[in-house]
Amino acid sequence: MTEPRKAIVAGAGIGGLTAAIALQRAGWQVKVFEAAQTLRAGGSGLSVMANAMAALHSIDAHAPVEQAGQVIRQFFFKKQNGDPITSMPIHEIGEQLGHPNINIQRPLLLRALAQQLAPGTLTTGLRCVGYAHRPDGVQVSFEDGSTHQADLLIGADGLNSTIRQQMLGETPTRPSGYIAWLAVTPLNHPLMTEGYVAHYWGRGKRFGLCDVGNGQAYWWGTCNHDNAADAALSVSKQEVLSAYTGWAPEVIAAIEATSESAILKMHARDREPVKQFCDGHVVLLGDAAHPMLPSLGQGAAQAIEDAVVLAGYLARTPDLRGALAQYQAHRHPRVNGIVNAARFMSGIEQAESKLLCWLREWYFRLTPQSSLRKKNVDILSFKPCA
Ligand SMILES: Cc1cc2nc3c(=O)[nH]c(=O)nc-3n(C[C@H](O)[C@H](O)[C@H](O)COP(=O)(O)OP(=O)(O)OC[C@H]3O[C@@H](n4cnc5c(N)ncnc54)[C@H](O)[C@@H]3O)c2cc1C
Repeated sequence: MTEPRKAIVAGAGIGGLTAAIALQRAGWQVKVFEAAQTLRAGGSGLSVMANAMAALHSIDAHAPVEQAGQVIRQFFFKKQNGDPITSMPIHEIGEQLGHPNINIQRPLLLRALAQQLAPGTLTTGLRCVGYAHRPDGVQVSFEDGSTHQADLLIGADGLNSTIRQQMLGETPTRPSGYIAWLAVTPLNHPLMTEGYVAHYWGRGKRFGLCDVGNGQAYWWGTCNHDNAADAALSVSKQEVLSAYTGWAPEVIAAIEATSESAILKMHARDREPVKQFCDGHVVLLGDAAHPMLPSLGQGAAQAIEDAVVLAGYLARTPDLRGALAQYQAHRHPRVNGIVNAARFMSGIEQAESKLLCWLREWYFRLTPQSSLRKKNVDILSFKPCA
């Protein structure tokens, strides 16, 4: 009997965990190494859109995620005072595609994925520091001085990836020009019906309010900043309240309901797209390969798609380098297109000029639902390997 092929995954985020599940289900022996002492226990929420749910479904990993999340039922764009601009047919597109769009707390998503790993797969508190090519595989080094051999190393180590740095050299991050606050809080408000999502648009500021189920709301706020990349990341709830003075009552209620310690503040960043995601027996996925601004809610979704497509090619193509080349060719047009689209959308959403904000509002008001549906179907459709 032939020995199972061995993979090492650097990083137990959404992409790394999904890759490990997919490869184990395809018969690989997988070890995941996470630099942090635990899977991210805190943090906020996110949306796992229909394309990601379809990818998870294709490896039968969707059910625990669906159970831990909340299906998005309504999706509104509103003015900062809460007046409606338009609604997005996100729920209808999910029904058309046969997969729901989910809001979920990030720790619950990580847990829903991690629980599907074979026992003993995950080692936490051990940072991967580099790799060396071997004739028949790769040797991976860790910060405690240990090394492990494998047929494949997957760099799923996020925005500041060590594996990417070694593979591609310096590829600076690009600031977004804004900072973001994020939190999950209990919220009882008449507008927060089951599966509610609303994005409120102001000048150079946005606010998102999402039902993540069980009486909890996930909210995020973005605010243009002259020097966003250097803005201090210490959180003051008063600063957030001041940024949204005069906004819709539900926006103020969400911030007021949140304890200061539950609020995260971060810089949103992406990188110039690249076409290379692999080198020998080493491959990148998720934010390590193509970090993007959050405007389209697709960063984690694309990490999940990467993981499933990668495992698909590895399962059907015996030649490992050939499989990685197929993965790279399949993925880079889609993910790089989304990186660019997210940056473009971010410019529109964070617009400050009165004229641009007025045009934005009227563009969305006048665009028919059928057109909004058409624009979103492609991005929300998962394309498995051919
Ligand atoms: C404000 C904001 C809102 C967002 N909202 C959404 C959304 O609604 N929907 C969506 O799809 N996406 C969203 N995203 C994007 C999403 O969060 C990321 O794209 C996603 O987390 C990427 O997953 P990943 O597994 O590639 O990387 P990460 O989640 O960053 O995981 C990387 C892991 O690797 C570990 N690590 C790092 N270095 C090493 C090392 N050297 N060795 C071992 N382990 C290491 C880290 O500790 C971490 O656990 C949002 C992003 C932001 C900033």
